[in-house]
Amino acid sequence: MIFFYEELITLEIEESAKCKFDNYIKNNKFKLESGGILIGTLNHAMNKIMITDITEPQHEDRQSRFMFTRREKGHQDIMDTLWENSHYTKTYLGEWHTHNEPSPTPSFVDKRNWIKISERDKNSQWLFFIIVGTREIRVWTVIQGKIVALSKKS
Ligand SMILES: [Zn+2]
Repeated sequence: MIFFYEELITLEIEESAKCKFDNYIKNNKFKLESGGILIGTLNHAMNKIMITDITEPQHEDRQSRFMFTRREKGHQDIMDTLWENSHYTKTYLGEWHTHNEPSPTPSFVDKRNWIKISERDKNSQWLFFIIVGTREIRVWTVIQGKIVALSKKS
């Protein structure tokens, strides 16, 4: 599954990560919001980013009908292990969560969080924010403080 924003960046969601998202849609797991972090590799030369792994809800997270609040614990351990096992090529690439709506759009709180996260120190110049809806998966990024949607390559 490939997304892009103009000529600037291409984002590929690897099959194994895509399968995890698809499971939410297939099994209609939207009663409570779920979420986690996006992990993957950067190819600076080609402006191509690959999401290879995602984390899913951990023990300490809070899940409710209209909110997913992620805690660091659990997700950070998984990130650290992937970072080491990949010889320091897999890095943090952003956040994802589910919405109980067919074609998801970010809430005010989502947008505020995404901007805040993008202002943090990070390995990747690019961060992505995915919402898994009941029918489709959508992706956004933040460019110079502005949220823009990526397009799906057909
Ligand atoms: Zn949301």
